[in-house]
Amino acid sequence: MRYRWPEGKQSAVVLSFDFDAESGFLFREPEKAKRSLGDLEERRFGPRVGVDRILRLLDRLKLRASFFIPGWTVENHPAPSKRIQDAGHEIGAHGNLHEAVGLLDPEQEEAVMKEQLAILRDRLGVTPAGYRSPSWDVNTWTPGILKRHGFLYDSSLMGNDVPYQIDSEAGPLVEVPVQWLLDDAPLFRHVYGSTNAIADPSRVLQMWSKEFAGMHAENGCFVLTCHPFVSGRASRIALLEDLVAYMRRFRGVSFTTCEEVARWHAGDGKAASPDPARKRRGRRTTPAGPLTRA
Ligand SMILES: [Zn+2]
Repeated sequence: MRYRWPEGKQSAVVLSFDFDAESGFLFREPEKAKRSLGDLEERRFGPRVGVDRILRLLDRLKLRASFFIPGWTVENHPAPSKRIQDAGHEIGAHGNLHEAVGLLDPEQEEAVMKEQLAILRDRLGVTPAGYRSPSWDVNTWTPGILKRHGFLYDSSLMGNDVPYQIDSEAGPLVEVPVQWLLDDAPLFRHVYGSTNAIADPSRVLQMWSKEFAGMHAENGCFVLTCHPFVSGRASRIALLEDLVAYMRRFRGVSFTTCEEVARWHAGDGKAASPDPARKRRGRRTTPAGPLTRA
């Protein structure tokens, strides 16, 4: 059965950005992080340059995006985090120190969840509707933790290419699915010893355009996941601009956020009713933003 989008749209597009900065490196390689200025600076390109380039791009495109930010990043890079918020973008949770939750037991994961939510609340006044697990690492018990902490949705799993439902012992959770093909890191990051070479942006534009065209035909939800320290590089910003221009040539594309997709899915269409007052009350993290354009 084809997925039904609001207002008769044919497909949905979400630009999402995981603002990791140094957090994942600090978690995975704490000893190396004490000495490797090279690794730290590679990631600091995100808060220093990448975020603002992405914000300027989104401003030019008149698009709202979804940013998932670890607690550590919010605490250590408060200015760019605040600029993301001030520009009206959605802010979701993304771990505290970008913990690989596959290494955590339920009690540890619960503690990390509490820490990240406290930081988002205390530093930004944000109660996130959504969660994206660091490195898309999800335990079988994670949906239950999210549900108990009041999350509307998760965006870390690959079990469909339209929004769907994950069951947990605390009730159903909306999933706004992701996929490796639509992640900038495996294509663009240089990692010694890995098989992937740095991709030509033209090839990536072709890949992502083809995937979008296919998903549009299938009424899909195209969720692109980029990282400011990876996609903030000049040629990749240009790639994103070209990709959006390509997607805008299609009729019936809803350019939206993960939260709006999740609200639509949770309400089975009712959440995105044309009643604007009702829609505003449904938002938790961001003011009613006029930035979304079809
Ligand atoms: Zn991340």
